[in-house]
Amino acid sequence: MSWLGRSKLPDVGTTIFTVMSRRAQQLGAINLGQGFPDYEIDPLLVELVARAMRDGHNQYAPMEGLPTLRERIAAKLAASYGLQFDPQSEITVTLGATEAIYSGIQAVAGPGDEVIAFDPAYDAYEPAVRLAGARCIRLPLLAPQFRYDWDQVRAALSERTRLILINSPHNPACTVATTQDLQTLAELIRGRDITVLSDEVYEHMVFDGRRHASVLAHPELRLRSLAVFSFGKTLHATGLRIGYGVAPAALTTELRKVHQFNTFSIAHPLQQAIADYLRERPGTGGDLPAFFQAKRERLRAALDGGGLHLPPAQGTFFQLLDFAAIAPPGDVEFAERLLTEAGVASIPLSPFYAEPPPLSCVRLCIAKRDATLDAAAERLAAFAHRLARAGA
Ligand code: GLN
Repeated sequence: MSWLGRSKLPDVGTTIFTVMSRRAQQLGAINLGQGFPDYEIDPLLVELVARAMRDGHNQYAPMEGLPTLRERIAAKLAASYGLQFDPQSEITVTLGATEAIYSGIQAVAGPGDEVIAFDPAYDAYEPAVRLAGARCIRLPLLAPQFRYDWDQVRAALSERTRLILINSPHNPACTVATTQDLQTLAELIRGRDITVLSDEVYEHMVFDGRRHASVLAHPELRLRSLAVFSFGKTLHATGLRIGYGVAPAALTTELRKVHQFNTFSIAHPLQQAIADYLRERPGTGGDLPAFFQAKRERLRAALDGGGLHLPPAQGTFFQLLDFAAIAPPGDVEFAERLLTEAGVASIPLSPFYAEPPPLSCVRLCIAKRDATLDAAAERLAAFAHRLARAGA
């Protein structure tokens, strides 16, 4: 048998997140790589999970998600965006946002179709497109600001284009799409048979007074989009693996056809607990901009200057670290040096490109205790100082 010889994803290895977390652990490094908090979650959620299990919510949940949870999600969407969604026909609970993305892609794209994604693209997108039998067209966001080049998108559109994958707030670029970006996208695909899959898992993490521009709030895009969200991010508990997809009823029907044979239904006690949590804490997510902006500022105050530059993240719980002043381009090499010489794990951006350009930044996760951020900043600053001196 030669499974490798017939691999459906011959060029895919273990994700950069897993690789970096493993190595950080082996080397005892501070892990600012893979995106997950290192602080305690709200004890209320812990209590509600235990209560849900004690109360017997331990058998299969309904395939599309617990009705009470979907109702609370609809209320949450109404509070966030002032929009009404039908929990019966437009909201589906999934195994993390990743499953919503995967199932959504399988539902919409197939052999002969093209799917457009923007580099740096989150690593789960293209494999899902290829497993669907479709072709992924990767278009670069324009560095160093990582903005869309809409002329390039227009030129890439064809009769075969079936799906466009967008992501805002953007992982790993830490930028946000503007309402003008969404308007331009809507105009470009008007009258064409193209669906939009919008990864909005960092919806609540936008800074400096910005407001998240959701495809759901765009009247045209809303009618042709699957928007994907994540409780793992919003509740500081990435291990929950509970997300949801919001889409018009006809698209939701297709999503659920795949979802029911992919994961069938999602952890019942966790869904019950999150539904209860949203009842107890109706403003969930509202405190995240201030919470993460303070972390961003803490890290920037400790690190910006002295050879390192931290262009303020517009959104997400990440922050880019620009090392152009102290080292040659090469983010993979620099991340390796940070890990082995500074004792800090980060994520290079190259793995998110089909054809990586020379890059001079790595991604740091700021969803960490202040003490973790301070300790990492100390190590990074000392390393930058050594490099700058060696270069001088
Ligand atoms: N979303 C997480 C990040 O960007 C990674 C999740 C994973 O490890 N697959 O860091």
